[in-house]
Amino acid sequence: MKIYKTADLISNTPVLASVIEEKETVWINPDLLPFHLAEKDLELSMKDIDEAEERLNRFAPFIAECFPETRAQGGIIESVLTPIPKMQEYINEKYQSALMGKLLLKQDSHLAIAGSIKARGGIYEVLKHTEDLALKHGLLSPQDSYKVLASENNRSFFRGYTIQVGSTGNLGMSIGIMSAAIGYNVIVHMSADAKQWKKDLLRSHGVRVVEYESDYSEAVLNGRKLSDENPKSYFVDDENSRNLFLGYAVAAKRLLVQLKDQGINVDADHPLFVYIPCGVGGAPGGVSFGLKQLFHDSVHCFFAEPAKAPCMLVGMATGLHQNICVQDMGLSGQTHADGLAVGRPSGFVGGIMAPLLSVIFTIRDGNLYEYMRGLLDQEGIFLEPSACAAFAGPIHLNHYPETKKYLIENHLCGKMKQAVHIAWATGGSLVPEAVRKAYRETYLEE
Ligand SMILES: *Cc1c(COP(=O)(O)O)cnc(C)c1O
Repeated sequence: MKIYKTADLISNTPVLASVIEEKETVWINPDLLPFHLAEKDLELSMKDIDEAEERLNRFAPFIAECFPETRAQGGIIESVLTPIPKMQEYINEKYQSALMGKLLLKQDSHLAIAGSIKARGGIYEVLKHTEDLALKHGLLSPQDSYKVLASENNRSFFRGYTIQVGSTGNLGMSIGIMSAAIGYNVIVHMSADAKQWKKDLLRSHGVRVVEYESDYSEAVLNGRKLSDENPKSYFVDDENSRNLFLGYAVAAKRLLVQLKDQGINVDADHPLFVYIPCGVGGAPGGVSFGLKQLFHDSVHCFFAEPAKAPCMLVGMATGLHQNICVQDMGLSGQTHADGLAVGRPSGFVGGIMAPLLSVIFTIRDGNLYEYMRGLLDQEGIFLEPSACAAFAGPIHLNHYPETKKYLIENHLCGKMKQAVHIAWATGGSLVPEAVRKAYRETYLEE
């Protein structure tokens, strides 16, 4: 582990001066490239996303079999895209956001099974591993309906295998619930930030939860070590997994269909802005990667991070990626945004996003609760505080001189009336009522 001199870092990367003070800030990615140039050096492509989508389609009959709540959608786990005009009016009034165009909410908060965006990547990775094992051991032949995997015989086969993962909460829930349904032994290594109700829910599914007093990195480190000691154990590596990333990326293809269904066109004159909360980077990175593949320079991808744990900002702005953490900057990394409480970013995601990402915002914890209450009052939709980081984008797009400059330089100013803004709601529907109530009553000084 390297320790950097803060003064040196700040003189090379001035944005870090406000980062170390835990101020809300914005970073414009200077390495963003036109998509046709960026595309050449990407290690993954549209073909990889297509394959992931087809794999999810193959598993749909199995998912419908195991999870009745997915039957109406034929075993496809997908969320709705909801216009939120009252929220738009509200932020324009309360925060003078001057947001033109149309504001929509992508409700991954309400994805079946896991109640968060992790239902995309986490579940996809478990299914990919399951398909690999099933084909290798002759449980499936390519023409079979994957429903056969739900048979008692096949379930007892998977009981001989273990899946492990390190998690701040939501990833553990998606991996744990899906793995338990298939039959695996599951061990979830949970960081100190993980909420008690998430641990309880997992245990109710028969998942073994190991608790750590330290942060996410420690849970991952130990989980990986224990998994490596067991040849029949598979470790889901949130920091480096290409599979996880591709599971998230499939969201883009589904979103394209939803936009079309709502009569929304995305092109050079109708720009799309997406704002996604970011922890280690996999979820927002995967979704953005998919969107860039489809919409090229017409989509502008923004991440939002807690001011107390802006690991992707620190990694990308310094170019040090996984070799730096927020603790190196003197930050605690402790935040109310438990889904985003990550000190060290994924270097894999930072590298892929370097020519694709437009902007990163940071947000103070207190504002997460303000935006949460705002959305609940205006639209009657509950999100967990982490997910509300997405609103930093639409609220502040027109405030910072840096983002104003971005709009000018990208010739966007004349097109904002036709713009579409998507706040990506990353989690919340499984939060128990008592916890929701406590959130609604949380007011922070900061
Ligand atoms: C995990 C998570 C994210 C961010 O995903 P990463 O892959 O960690 O960047 C955002 N919001 C919620 C609610 C999450 O659980």
